Amino acid sequence: MTKIAITRTAHPKQPPADETLAFGKVFTDHMFLMDYDEGRGWHDPRIVPYGPFTLDPATCVLHYGQAIFDGLKAFRGPDGRIRFFRLPDHARRLNNSAHYLCIPKIDPAMIEESIRALVEIDQRWVPSLPGTSLYIRPTVIATETFLGVHPSSSYLYYVIVGPVGAYYKEGMNPVRILASDKYVRAVKGGLGAAKTAGNYAASLFAAEEAQHAGYTQVLWLDGVEHRYLDEVGTMNIMLKIDDEVITPPLNGAILAGITRDSVLTLLRTWGMRVSERPIAIDDVIAAAKAGRLEMWGTGTAAVISPVGELGYKGERYVIGDGKTGALTQRLYDTIVGIQYGRAPDPFGWTRVLGNRPGG
Ligand SMILES: *Cc1c(COP(=O)(O)O)cnc(C)c1O
Repeated sequence: MTKIAITRTAHPKQPPADETLAFGKVFTDHMFLMDYDEGRGWHDPRIVPYGPFTLDPATCVLHYGQAIFDGLKAFRGPDGRIRFFRLPDHARRLNNSAHYLCIPKIDPAMIEESIRALVEIDQRWVPSLPGTSLYIRPTVIATETFLGVHPSSSYLYYVIVGPVGAYYKEGMNPVRILASDKYVRAVKGGLGAAKTAGNYAASLFAAEEAQHAGYTQVLWLDGVEHRYLDEVGTMNIMLKIDDEVITPPLNGAILAGITRDSVLTLLRTWGMRVSERPIAIDDVIAAAKAGRLEMWGTGTAAVISPVGELGYKGERYVIGDGKTGALTQRLYDTIVGIQYGRAPDPFGWTRVLGNRPGG
């Protein structure tokens, strides 16, 4: 693996107080960059002071959206050590997104090393207040200068990181979601399984309408029949009806969430009945009306997000009295315990900064 060249900033900033942190607003002193050129492959891995890029106005990513990203976190435990959560899985998923977007793969060892090296240099930015973490955003953009639709011959891989606040400051807070019978996010055969910029652009209009109607996020239904649950804006969806936990299958239209996988692994370890199968919105509503439903979203930002209310076709359905369900809370507590190193990690999900792979 090529050695990473390091240029340290001459003007280190003061990280904000942990209590004031929000999400995605503050970034650290450095960033990681690496270039790709046809014929040369990925080259010049480097860490440089954080700062803006200069791009030609005809840079193809600005016009045709050939861009991918991922999102993961590092946590400072009560023991002071910094742990990455499922780093190799996020590296693999970035390459999976690359595949869908005709972007050349990056050596997964280099993805992991780029993140480790950057967090190592900026480790004083990893907050320690319970619930806070360092959010890590690896990104690839197409950088060739042209107008016309074809894969770029050059790319920039970069990583930025920033401290983020506790998602739940005063206990878990159930969200209200609106199932859309009008808009779709992705269809089977499209790009729904990739973390690519365009998917989020495609979600804005419907999300704004949902917010005007008093909902936090959109629950996307399948793109063909508008009948089966797909996922929420940046979360996979799960529900429990009686003793069965159900989540939509990875059918190509939804993202393979790593939190989704963590939850499924835990549930199976706990001996619960888990089904990855299509689930129709009508069945969800029937279960909600009968008081047999618990529902939550899974994603890196919130880990687990209880759903307290579901909107559909002008009706509102309250779920579990609008409160966090017992299983939802147990899943959250278990995963967060592992992330901060407060609980044992039987699945090998965390990697301590300073320990190289295998450590
Ligand atoms: C990132 C994301 C998720 C959640 O994935 P995690 O790996 O659990 O963070 C789910 N759906 C979409 C559309 C996403 O972008």
